[in-house]
Amino acid sequence: MSEPFLRCRAVSKRFGQTQAVDRVDLEVAQGEIFALLGPSGCGKTTLLRLIGGFEAPDAGEIELDGHVLASSSRFVPAEKRRIAVVFQDFALFPHMNVGKNVAFGLPNGADRKRRVGELLDLVGLSGLDGRMPHELSGGQQQRVALARALAAEPRLMLLDEPFSNLDPAVRQRVRAEVKQLIQSVGITAVFVTHDQEEALSLAERVAVMMDGCIVQSGEPAAIYEQPATRPVAEFIGDANFLPAEVRGGIASCELGEVRVQAGFDGAAELMIRAEDLALRGDGASTAEVLNVEYYGHDQMATVRSASGRLLKVRLPAGVHANAGDRVTVEVAGEARAFPSQ
Ligand code: ATP
Repeated sequence: MSEPFLRCRAVSKRFGQTQAVDRVDLEVAQGEIFALLGPSGCGKTTLLRLIGGFEAPDAGEIELDGHVLASSSRFVPAEKRRIAVVFQDFALFPHMNVGKNVAFGLPNGADRKRRVGELLDLVGLSGLDGRMPHELSGGQQQRVALARALAAEPRLMLLDEPFSNLDPAVRQRVRAEVKQLIQSVGITAVFVTHDQEEALSLAERVAVMMDGCIVQSGEPAAIYEQPATRPVAEFIGDANFLPAEVRGGIASCELGEVRVQAGFDGAAELMIRAEDLALRGDGASTAEVLNVEYYGHDQMATVRSASGRLLKVRLPAGVHANAGDRVTVEVAGEARAFPSQ
């Protein structure tokens, strides 16, 4: 990466006994869409609030565009950071119409009416300036919140669980629209989410947070395909874990021998994604299908292996499997080995 636009160095924040953020290092490039992903309580909102200036770090340094925002000797208050925040509930003023909500973000003296029109054009809501927030859909409210955030011409946009208040049916569409909007404006954006699908689909890079620490960061595909630790693998996607013995790049487990890229020999935990397992029905069947959840585009079978282990197997939509079927479980794709603890 060229010189990072946003940089956190060893940033920590404690609340009483809780180490909410623990020596976090983070670098975000200019124009990048970056996700902080992690389970509830891992500290992602606190990190966002530290970047926004709503909290002061106990230790460490935060820099934006080469300027120190927070350190042991300096603290730039939130309103002086030129950082916009879009909240989970969009935080529109319910008694103001759309135009006034957007104008609220504009600096004084600007040609307000023209600018509001431009911003509403940008977010695809031209002509709706007279509507009240409650007369808009969730996705439209989200776009008004974005327009208001962009009005102040921020250097950085922070989004806190920006899609969690939207109906699942519209979430995917709004997500794609927001991504396109952020990219068209070219603004650097950091958003927090506990939803892995959201992080992987929206962000150009993702940092996975657990217990106040960033445990892995990288491009979405790298996080999904090469999780650094078992907890990361468990948190992202559907993973099966089997005890195995690795020798020379071959892992032996109860499903047979599987090629792995492992830099070690010895006892291992083998991670195999649900989509990397397949079922075969034949005379030598050793496993039993316990149930199948049908999703339309695909389905997820829970299978009890010969040893009694429960395995998740993702099946293409056309494959017919039913509870009670006797099957053989095969490794059809990649596996990854972690050394046993
Ligand atoms: P969620 O997804 O549930 O919002 P999160 O990953 O954003 O979780 P944070 O809100 O950053 O997590 O909280 C991290 C930890 O710090 C939690 O244990 C939380 O209870 C604690 N915490 C956060 N803010 C405060 C506060 N103002 N006072 C005390 N404890 C706090």
